[in-house]
Amino acid sequence: MGELAFAAQERTAVLERMEREHFDILIIGGGITGAGIALDAADRGLKTALVEMQDFAAGT
Ligand SMILES: Cc1cc2nc3c(=O)[nH]c(=O)nc-3n(C[C@H](O)[C@H](O)[C@H](O)COP(=O)(O)OP(=O)(O)OC[C@H]3O[C@@H](n4cnc5c(N)ncnc54)[C@H](O)[C@@H]3O)c2cc1C
Repeated sequence: MGELAFAAQERTAVLERMEREHFDILIIGGGITGAGIALDAADRGLKTALVEMQDFAAGT
């Protein structure tokens, strides 16, 4: 996320950034499937966003 830390404390700022900017792909869900898709998309150079309604891997 560029200058923003990858941390729950930045959640509001991250969501505000997602409202302002355009992304190539939006992934819904931060389980292993979503995390894997995000990694693959970023590796391919896509500007990638992921939303998680609880916490990463919360179900696991
Ligand atoms: C009790 C338990 C024990 C397990 N133990 C093991 C184990 O020992 N070894 C093993 O290999 N597997 C285990 N599993 C299975 C493993 O957890 C799943 O196979 C794996 O987590 C599935 O990954 P997933 O990304 O498809 O789904 P999930 O991990 O369920 O991720 C989906 C994510 O999407 C989010 N989400 C859903 N809807 C929305 C929405 N509308 N907006 C935003 N976010 C959303 C959820 O909050 C969740 O974080 C276990 C599962 C359970 C329930």
